[in-house]
Amino acid sequence: MKNIYDITFSELETFFLNNGEKKYRASQTFLWLYEKRVKSFLEMNNLNDESLKLLTDNFSFPILTMINKQVSEDGTVKYLYKLKDGNYIETVIMRQNYGNSICVTSQVGCNMGCKFCASGKLKKIRDLEAGEMIAQVIESERDFAEKISNIVVMGIGEPFDNYDNTMRFIKNANHHKGLNIGARHITASTCGLVPKIKEFSEEKLQVNLAISLHASNDKLRDEIMPINRKYKLKDVVDAIKYYMTKSNRRITIEYILLKDINDQKEHAIELANVLKGLNVYVNLIPYNEIVEVSYKKSSTETLKNFQQTLIDNKINAIFRQELGSDIDAACGQLRSKTVKGERV
Ligand code: SAH
Repeated sequence: MKNIYDITFSELETFFLNNGEKKYRASQTFLWLYEKRVKSFLEMNNLNDESLKLLTDNFSFPILTMINKQVSEDGTVKYLYKLKDGNYIETVIMRQNYGNSICVTSQVGCNMGCKFCASGKLKKIRDLEAGEMIAQVIESERDFAEKISNIVVMGIGEPFDNYDNTMRFIKNANHHKGLNIGARHITASTCGLVPKIKEFSEEKLQVNLAISLHASNDKLRDEIMPINRKYKLKDVVDAIKYYMTKSNRRITIEYILLKDINDQKEHAIELANVLKGLNVYVNLIPYNEIVEVSYKKSSTETLKNFQQTLIDNKINAIFRQELGSDIDAACGQLRSKTVKGERV
């Protein structure tokens, strides 16, 4: 049965019309779902019996059970959720100076195999449904008890490897009768699935796009991000150019600094050359160390020098605020757990 949070507003209108009901039943239903946030159809007490029956016969509520919650000293909260099939995912809420931001997971595990990331240590078990992504926001916000104003699809998984569900999620997150979060407050991040970046360019959404680049040449990128063996840096740059012809939006380039691997002055200069003339800014991410790999965080001085070299070469670069690392809630530290529970 379809998860009720999977369906978009216009699809629900069509559903009611096709079943002999009035279109406005969709508005009523969405109000219960997204504003009142009920947990069952029976609570929707202004729906007529026919509409209620249609809903209960055709849809179910997503099952997302909160198993654990950790609070960081900086106020970041990490939730561990159990899905209906027993798999586990993590979701994070961060307090930023511009509001509360939620980091949503898009897959159980990840197939991209980036060498530095904990999330990909478990291969993809399955894609999340759009409704399971919406449910992460609803359940986390319910517990957090403060308004969430920003969404980043930067949790476990590669959202563009689960493109259709991610788009459906974004549509319901953005819709004024859905979560009603402004498109400019939503960001999807990809490791560089070029055909999907092109597809995304056609969506005519004002949603932000972030690209995890992390290397200034193919040799290095091939080593740390296997996806680069398929889509080279030049292909990613071409996709960025394509996006620029389709939208006026600036792209965020994410760049993790790995000590002595990609953090030297020559890398900054090389990166500036790769990005020359593109409407981008660079979000520099100090590396968060994880147990399985030996990469180390760069020194504060190296980090500052790298940023300065980019700026000297006319590339905007800022550091991403480091949040939640004490509870393993920072970038690259989230993990899925399988039903068998071999991974925590
Ligand atoms: N798969 C998507 C979404 C994940 S976003 C993507 O690759 O963009 C999470 C961001 O954190 C990515 O930029 C990822 O490369 C980065 N990241 C992964 N491991 C990290 C680590 N250990 N320290 C800092 N950032 C990391």
